[in-house]
Amino acid sequence: MPAKTHRTHTTVVLASLLGLTTIGLGGLGYYSYNQHQQILLLLEDRNYFLLEVASSSDRLATEITQASTTISALTLERDDLLAKLTAEEAKNEAFARQINKISGTVGRLDKLSKTDEELLQKYSKVYFLSEHYVPAKLKLIDTDHLAPGRKEQYFHGDALPYLNRLIAAAKDDGIDLDVVSAYRSFETQAELKGAYLQTYGSGANTFSADQGYSEHQLGTAVDFSTPNLGGALDGFGKTEAYTWLRANAHRYGFVLSYPEGNAYYVYEPWHWRFVGEDLASDLKRADAHFYDWDQRKIDEYLIKIFD
Ligand SMILES: [Zn+2]
Repeated sequence: MPAKTHRTHTTVVLASLLGLTTIGLGGLGYYSYNQHQQILLLLEDRNYFLLEVASSSDRLATEITQASTTISALTLERDDLLAKLTAEEAKNEAFARQINKISGTVGRLDKLSKTDEELLQKYSKVYFLSEHYVPAKLKLIDTDHLAPGRKEQYFHGDALPYLNRLIAAAKDDGIDLDVVSAYRSFETQAELKGAYLQTYGSGANTFSADQGYSEHQLGTAVDFSTPNLGGALDGFGKTEAYTWLRANAHRYGFVLSYPEGNAYYVYEPWHWRFVGEDLASDLKRADAHFYDWDQRKIDEYLIKIFD
């Protein structure tokens, strides 16, 4: 039975091969199926992921748009607030300026109300000082500044520093100014006038002010002499002291009340009145005299008379 054996053998081998092939092919088929499934899963994952990304980016885009809108709204609000703030600040500044202006005006009015308006008054036969008028502050003039033999002369307390500076400046230029007479009360003036009238009769009116309108009652007028006149007033108009005063007195706020040829009073070169540096300087510049100017124009200088 070799042939049968051989055939059987061959059959077994073939069958075996077939079986192996079948197993092999089956295995191959199994393998492809798994891979396919995996690919499908991966594809699914990828799609899911892509969807996720797309939805996330949509969400982000929406959020960004919303944020931009919010930022724009906030920016507008901020600009609006800044504009309002600027407007408020401008209002406050305007208000502060107004307050300053008002307090400045109040300050000016207060200062003016405390400044004696008689100090820049022009006196005449129709406008004169009350017999009760006494300057608010009177101070003694330094004895060194008085003419020989003169006792206790008073001057307006606020104007006295100007008088002292005037006398000191003159001395620096080699000019000696002696005070003969300064403040005179209504009574003193009346006595003086009485004495003049007794001596000179009605002619006294031309050289001695009627009591009540002498500038001496103000406390800001002063009569000067020099040592070489020995305290006399006569002849003062010819002295170097008078020339010096004509050139410099305005710097210290003094003016010559009654210049030569004036229409108001007799020429009194020795008689000087304190009116403040501003007015005295402006009068000097204008080559005008105190009594030449309108009272209203003069009054504008009152507030700064002691500045
Ligand atoms: Zn005088």
